[in-house]
Amino acid sequence: MTEPPNIVLVVLDTLRRSTLYDQINSTVAFKKIANDGVLYDNAISPASWTVPSHASIFSGLYPSEHGVHRRQEEGVMESMDRAHSMKDTLPERMYSAGYETTSLHANVLLSGGSGFDVGFDNCLSIGPFEWISAAGKSIKDILGDVDTQTSAALKHLILNLKFDEIRKILSINSSLRKQLKAKNFPVDKGGTDIVETATTYLKNSPSFVFMNFMESHGPHDRLPSNVLLWERKLTKRTIEDYTGDRPFKGKEVQRYRRSYHNSVQVMDTQLSKLVRKLEEKDLYDDTLLVITSDHGEALKENKFVGHGVFLHNTLINIPLMIKYPQSKKFKVENGYQTTIDMRDFLTVWSNGNKIPFPSRDVVFSEEFGSGHDGLSRVTDGRIDNVEDLNVKRKAVLKNGIKLVVDGTRGIVEEFEVDGIATSPKERREASSDLLEEMSIFTGNEDFIVPGN
Ligand SMILES: [Zn+2]
Repeated sequence: MTEPPNIVLVVLDTLRRSTLYDQINSTVAFKKIANDGVLYDNAISPASWTVPSHASIFSGLYPSEHGVHRRQEEGVMESMDRAHSMKDTLPERMYSAGYETTSLHANVLLSGGSGFDVGFDNCLSIGPFEWISAAGKSIKDILGDVDTQTSAALKHLILNLKFDEIRKILSINSSLRKQLKAKNFPVDKGGTDIVETATTYLKNSPSFVFMNFMESHGPHDRLPSNVLLWERKLTKRTIEDYTGDRPFKGKEVQRYRRSYHNSVQVMDTQLSKLVRKLEEKDLYDDTLLVITSDHGEALKENKFVGHGVFLHNTLINIPLMIKYPQSKKFKVENGYQTTIDMRDFLTVWSNGNKIPFPSRDVVFSEEFGSGHDGLSRVTDGRIDNVEDLNVKRKAVLKNGIKLVVDGTRGIVEEFEVDGIATSPKERREASSDLLEEMSIFTGNEDFIVPGN
């Protein structure tokens, strides 16, 4: 038993593994953290969008176990209501262990009152929504006749960038535009302010600081000549550009991918500042620093742009790097890492004991239907496969083999051996084994695992 270390948990919202790992050698902070720590190659997120994934990080449970996920025909907010039911969460554990607990997040889904604030001494939302609020009038005043019932719905509006409503805001209050422009939105979605604020809370008390950065989350600058949405006249076409109602192809896809890719460099600058602050305060060596993500992003590899709904590799393969105190190196065990182990892993460290982040032989990921939001994210103009979006999906990964089942219709959607699409018939034994794992995992849940 030793003194418990400071713990910093950084979630880079929406950053997929390959986008970070492919360019890590051209970064400063990521490279340093990876060199001083351990880089994990097989981390899988338990879900492909923010709410269920963060609920898993906090509760140590899969989405089907904690229940904080969207159900068919539900919106984001209904699933949020269930976040209050989480028990014995990571921040509560840290609080009980005597840590000062702080959440600094740009994703408003994690804000005060959401249920994700329980256990935090300090819970601060930092980013576009707060900038807009700070621009003068209250959101309610600004919106006027826009039909919004609760402040939660308003946050949802901003978060999901419902541009027809936001257009009303902007036309009423041009100071908002100036506010966002001054903050360098959408390149900076709160990162600068989060790192700045973090310095106040990073101290040797000990402290647990959770940070969620949105720089890799849309919107990205996909417009010609680097013209930001906020400077451009808002027309029906501009709005369709962003909601995905207009076909999104060719050079535009390339541009979008480039902006997404560049978010790593933007984040590298922020993390460099964070590392420097830790070093200045003489806290870097003793801190347990975890860098991960809540899910990835599809960049039209499978017709789809965005996240949620599916369980493609682009969506569930996430980065994970851990700089242990005194840069201790642990051997990475074979298998997969899942962020549902984050809570117990950090609990052990908070009690003054040292363990490596665990690996598992078998891991899962789950999605429960699109609700309304996923529908707007299909970017081919027509939504002719609504039934493909509104199904329950589960992925199981074991021994380099991945199987995805659509459990609403009882069909195998994906079967991959070492990342290569393969017919389950070619690997009958392995596919039976994974279907068996899936059956055990689903238990009595209403989810059809196909026979084999
Ligand atoms: Zn997210």
